Amino acid sequence: MGDGRELTTTCVIAGAGPAGLMLGYLLARAGVPVTVVEKHGDFLRDFRGDTIHPSTLEVMEELGLIDRFLALPHTRAPKLTAQMGGQTITMADFSRLPVKHRFIAFMPQWDFLNFLAAEAARYPHFRLIMNAKVTGLIEAPQGLGGLVVETQEGPLAIRSRLVVGADGRNSIVREKAGLSVESFGSPSEVVWMKLSKQAGDPNEVMGHAGPRQGFVLIDRGDYWQCGYVVRGTTFAEIKAKGIKAFRQMVADVSPLPSSRVEEVVTFDDTSLLTVRIDRLQSGGGRG
Ligand SMILES: Cc1cc2nc3c(=O)[nH]c(=O)nc-3n(C[C@H](O)[C@H](O)[C@H](O)COP(=O)(O)OP(=O)(O)OC[C@H]3O[C@@H](n4cnc5c(N)ncnc54)[C@H](O)[C@@H]3O)c2cc1C
Repeated sequence: MGDGRELTTTCVIAGAGPAGLMLGYLLARAGVPVTVVEKHGDFLRDFRGDTIHPSTLEVMEELGLIDRFLALPHTRAPKLTAQMGGQTITMADFSRLPVKHRFIAFMPQWDFLNFLAAEAARYPHFRLIMNAKVTGLIEAPQGLGGLVVETQEGPLAIRSRLVVGADGRNSIVREKAGLSVESFGSPSEVVWMKLSKQAGDPNEVMGHAGPRQGFVLIDRGDYWQCGYVVRGTTFAEIKAKGIKAFRQMVADVSPLPSSRVEEVVTFDDTSLLTVRIDRLQSGGGRG
């Protein structure tokens, strides 16, 4: 890394989320020198991407990672059921999929990312720099020539032939490269929260109540991960009504005893997932 202020690699990736880390792993495995930079110091993000779908498990199978991956603590849902009009119906049955692992694995995203980072670190061409926030791009005659990152030791210039922005929805790489996004709006919002699991609770791995009001219940072993699907309003409007009103909305649709929702003390105990559909606009940008 020279004096710690500049380094050169073949591919630099902004963001160590699922996209950035998986790409980093694949490139390192193929012998391409790659550096992934992540602004956080760890992967702890509550409720993020906790469902690992059969298609992802198939990729892990093809990469020869599946046995070590499934050795990590997780719960499995071979089926998804829903309560509708007082009846339990099967929403999804993975047993017919043309893949080897026919279930959704529930695992915190930080376990998934720690696993990928550890597997990638087996390859000498892989480098992950945590606490490294991208602040700018390095311009080169033919396009981008790298990234400028802010690290605990000060600014670092990473020169690279290929620059990848995997820094999430509000990508700074995309913004600085002048790429614009066409947004198709937000079809739904889900408010996630944790409620304790107690004797007599439903025997569900993943339940869903509907159809007018969605409520998702995921068995996380010692607690329930609950998702309240916002309908006909926005979470901002719900918040304006106060936590008591929100608890009542949840209690009205949750199959758990209504007293359980008292565990949501403030809105800080919730995490909002806004499902948004965006598309990169063609043209423009700086390479
Ligand atoms: C509350 C919630 C629940 C979700 N539940 C599920 C689920 O159950 N199943 C599922 O499949 N998906 C779920 N998702 C979606 C899933 O988390 C995302 O699809 C996935 O994380 C996207 O991966 P990504 O690598 O593209 O981006 P991200 O995961 O957003 O990763 C981007 C990374 O870039 C880093 N970064 C950002 N800016 C910079 C910068 N300037 N410099 C350096 N690093 C930077 C961020 O810290 C982050 O680590 C959920 C999302 C949320 C918010």
